Amino acid sequence: MLQWGTMLIVYDSRHRLHADPQYKHPENPSRALRVIEALVKSEFSTQLSFVGVREPEEEVLVLVHDADYVEYVKRESSKGFHYIDPDTYVNEHTYTISASYMTTTYYTALESLESKRPVLVVPRPGGHHAGRSGRALGAPTLGFCIFNYAAIASVALLKKVKKVLMIDFDAHHGNGTQDIFWEDGRVVHIDIHQEGIYPGTGDVVDVGSNAGEGKIINIPLSAGAGDETYVWVLEEVVKKVANTFKPDAVVVSAGFDAHINDPLTSLAATKITYRNFGAYFGELLARNEVVSLVSVIEGGYGEGLVSGLLNYVNGILTRSKHPNDVKASPAGIRKRVRDLLKTNLSKYWGIEARV
Ligand SMILES: [Zn+2]
Repeated sequence: MLQWGTMLIVYDSRHRLHADPQYKHPENPSRALRVIEALVKSEFSTQLSFVGVREPEEEVLVLVHDADYVEYVKRESSKGFHYIDPDTYVNEHTYTISASYMTTTYYTALESLESKRPVLVVPRPGGHHAGRSGRALGAPTLGFCIFNYAAIASVALLKKVKKVLMIDFDAHHGNGTQDIFWEDGRVVHIDIHQEGIYPGTGDVVDVGSNAGEGKIINIPLSAGAGDETYVWVLEEVVKKVANTFKPDAVVVSAGFDAHINDPLTSLAATKITYRNFGAYFGELLARNEVVSLVSVIEGGYGEGLVSGLLNYVNGILTRSKHPNDVKASPAGIRKRVRDLLKTNLSKYWGIEARV
């Protein structure tokens, strides 16, 4: 039965144990605390139900990550607080917290197929830069991430359904996720990110290989790209690919650092972008076009983490776009990227995008 109007939030306050001593790192406990406070105080609070995390199960972790990498994280974590690369810290709680979120995301994604409720995972740290064996596609670091929650959600869903559409609108390229699904073929991964920033991957010519060829869709945006560009991507790429691919489920890497006021990036998305993406995904679920919608919070280090997220949740629950109209335009995408994107969409999907 469709339990519409409610959203399941995966959250456990023990995330606070994964922290740098002075909260100086941008990925610190205040992020998830701000998210939860905003959700609890929001107009949707009565439509949200919260579930804590389960104990870690290593059998779940190795569905996405190599056993050697899982052991590495466990070992480094046991040494206490230190940096495992120039961006990424661990402490004695990191393994347990990230592994607990992985395990819970796995089971919650499976359960969502029965409940039909949209799921929002509020993990720490983020996950989309973590590839099968850690650093992915030649990235210099793990980019604050440890285990990949969006990937485990998709792997769980693929036990029961055939096709998953993954969207990553975090401002950074989801290189870990692409590493995991590069030649999978059951997953389409559309990644919208700022060109030229960390991790330096995600060019439009990177399209996956073997069964996955054409199913990796990278859309690098120029600095300053905002709602017009995001709405264009939603209308011309995401919706058109979804209409052709006909996914059974949607998994979203919902980072909110493409927000205009984020301190780490130079994109210019506002609440309009997040509301409209949420509205589309909510509509797919409400119309039974997909049987599951799992969103996982990734980055977001400023105002977007609250205003972007609340508008995204609003969109999912109300299935209504933002009242402010935006004229869709690919102006925030360089011509080279537009031309190659158009070629790829035509070649692999038979889609004539209006560029
Ligand atoms: Zn990010």
